[in-house]
Amino acid sequence: MRFGMDFGGTNLKTGIFHEDGSVVDFIEHPLTTFTGNGNLLDNLLSHAQKFAANKSIRGGGLAIKGLVNSATGILEDDIGAGAMLAGRDLRATFGDALGVPFCVENDARAYAWGEWLFGAGKGSKVQVCMTLGTGLGCALIKDQHPYQGSDALGGILGGHISIDRNGPRCPCGNYGCLEVYCSAPAFAKRIRNAHPDLENKADPLPPFFDKIAAGDSGYITTLKAFQRDLAIGIVNVIHAYGPDRIVLGGGVMNSASLILPGLIEQVHQMAWTVPRNSVDIQPAALGNRAAAIGAAFHPDLNLER
Ligand SMILES: [Zn+2]
Repeated sequence: MRFGMDFGGTNLKTGIFHEDGSVVDFIEHPLTTFTGNGNLLDNLLSHAQKFAANKSIRGGGLAIKGLVNSATGILEDDIGAGAMLAGRDLRATFGDALGVPFCVENDARAYAWGEWLFGAGKGSKVQVCMTLGTGLGCALIKDQHPYQGSDALGGILGGHISIDRNGPRCPCGNYGCLEVYCSAPAFAKRIRNAHPDLENKADPLPPFFDKIAAGDSGYITTLKAFQRDLAIGIVNVIHAYGPDRIVLGGGVMNSASLILPGLIEQVHQMAWTVPRNSVDIQPAALGNRAAAIGAAFHPDLNLER
């Protein structure tokens, strides 16, 4: 069995998994459970130890938002709640606390690795995984390993590929980044602006996709504009990395059956691939467990399965 933890932007997910990736136990807590009282790292370690107690785990991993150097196990930088963990040797600390080989990885890379190993990326040679969540996460799997590049930034900045040089300035410094148009909040904002009468202003995606499913033509233009922006970003990634599979995750993909056909059509019209439709685009399969699973089965653990 393996232990996996996913320290995200708002929640902490913790799981124990069988060697085939299936779930033994999985739980999700708001981060405030661990940030409220006492030291964050101590709280996480004690939670991990309690969760893994009496389970015969052979290895584990932590997926965390921010710049992670998986070779050193150190979170180099994070501006979110995880900032309190920056600079610590998390690999050694968790490994010692649990008494097993341990790995620390950026959450987008861990998500992509989980999907490659047990989910929608299975069997692919080069996989790019993009998650449409609070931000737009991106990671590359090649040579049977999450790609890190020459530093902790490699492969995870697909959300900051520009799709419009005249677009708004992004906090990263670039203009018109994909994330500004296609993250979940950006998509919600686009829908609110185009359809101010749509109910549920806090989360307009479900009523929007109800209208799309009903074939309401007044909403199709908004979906097509979103698909086109996302397709341009995906084509850039295809041209950069040459993947044979793109896996798309995040809450927006709950409506994958309504998004993917039009998106795939646009990608194949624009991508310079031989043959033209050679890149397989699939929705993610592991849901909110992917990053915890990816960390738990990280290849750097060097454990036979
Ligand atoms: Zn940017």
